[in-house]
Amino acid sequence: MSTALFPPVYLEKRTHYREFMDKHVYPAERSLDREDDAALDLIAALQGKARSAGLWAPHMPPEAGGTGDGFLYYACMNEEIGRSYWAQLVFGCQAPDAGNAEILHLYGTPEQRERFLEPLVGGRARSFFSMTEPDVAGSDPTLLRTRAVQDGDDWVIDGQKWFSSGADASTFGVLFAITDPDAEPHRRGTMILVPAETPGVEIRPVAVMGHTGRGWNTHCEVSYTGVRVPVANTLGERGDAFRIAQKRLGPGRIHHVMRWLGQMQRAFDLMCSYALEREAFGGPLAEKQTVQNWIADSAAEIQACRLLTMDAARKIDEGSEARVEVSLLKFYAAKALGDVIDRAVQVHGARGLTDATPLAQMAAHARGGRIYDGPDEVHRMVVARRILKSYMAGEGWSFR
Ligand SMILES: Cc1cc2nc3c(=O)[nH]c(=O)nc-3n(C[C@H](O)[C@H](O)[C@H](O)COP(=O)(O)OP(=O)(O)OC[C@H]3O[C@@H](n4cnc5c(N)ncnc54)[C@H](O)[C@@H]3O)c2cc1C
Repeated sequence: MSTALFPPVYLEKRTHYREFMDKHVYPAERSLDREDDAALDLIAALQGKARSAGLWAPHMPPEAGGTGDGFLYYACMNEEIGRSYWAQLVFGCQAPDAGNAEILHLYGTPEQRERFLEPLVGGRARSFFSMTEPDVAGSDPTLLRTRAVQDGDDWVIDGQKWFSSGADASTFGVLFAITDPDAEPHRRGTMILVPAETPGVEIRPVAVMGHTGRGWNTHCEVSYTGVRVPVANTLGERGDAFRIAQKRLGPGRIHHVMRWLGQMQRAFDLMCSYALEREAFGGPLAEKQTVQNWIADSAAEIQACRLLTMDAARKIDEGSEARVEVSLLKFYAAKALGDVIDRAVQVHGARGLTDATPLAQMAAHARGGRIYDGPDEVHRMVVARRILKSYMAGEGWSFR
């Protein structure tokens, strides 16, 4: 694997993640997959080890309780962390908590940071992000309906969300609620912090691709019925929900892609190793041209995704929102992820569908990547619209 894309100090740090993954995470995967009480205890034990090893919360800066150094740094670490589904939880950088921590860090009042952010980054709390609703198109958040009405010093919330990932057994949610239905569409929503135990909040995990899961590994329906929380739980200003969601989802999208880089590379390793080992029709699968094409196409796609990720990460670290770069990376990498894993499954034949390798689980998770945090089609629309707008302004488009 080429290493020249990252500063040597990042590469040195990454070897610590690799050693930790080899020693603690890969050997634990089968046990963690069982999602029983013993698996919860094991996660807690591994989190303690990650903290002691100075590898905790690499997405957050030290002043917010993490060990990170920006997006490029996090991209580099994720080529190791992303290889295992459970590792993000072990290192305290799991979605959706990572994104929620970032917006609490940016927009939280001192009281909110103390009550919600500190336990979150410290690994003593988990959270969920409650935006998508079953009854309206999540791609177009101007359609959202869940209402919060101010009553004295409280918000009173009513509505129905779903796909609130990780909501089962979590501590609080970041809710996108409509507070000002008559305002212009992008000023109608407000972000509100809702403790999960508040009366009227009901959380129910939904089976996704046949798997219901438990705790962090869930996607939940969350219903809000007459839920009362103080107006002091408003995150940012009233009417700021669209702006905050955008601030959260941009980095969140690139975080997903960073983890996918690890997933793709693991699938690639498995594909190449198995192709050399398995024999059919007089020789190893590695000698069949179709398999060679899959390996070559996968290598090209993985490297393209790496370069697109580095480019977007550098631009974000320099202060740009990198909207076009993040959107084109998101849809391109989601497709590459699915394709690389699918080829690796195919090379493994029936074995690829069993639990003998992590490929089947990886394939199931990969499919959601083309939908969550914006379906492919919406990201293509964002990219094309922005480029065309630039042409209409007579500026053309320069690839920087
Ligand atoms: C695994 C997973 C985890 C998730 N986690 C969370 C979470 O934690 N919190 C949360 O709030 N949400 C979460 N979501 C929800 C996710 O963000 C939404 O599913 C997504 O925004 C799409 O909304 P929708 O499902 O309502 O699809 P819709 O908006 O109804 O779109 C359906 C389809 O229509 C097509 N489409 C839409 N717009 C266009 C267009 N402009 N041009 C062409 N085609 C278009 C696309 O093919 C799209 O897939 C998660 C989803 C998944 C799958």
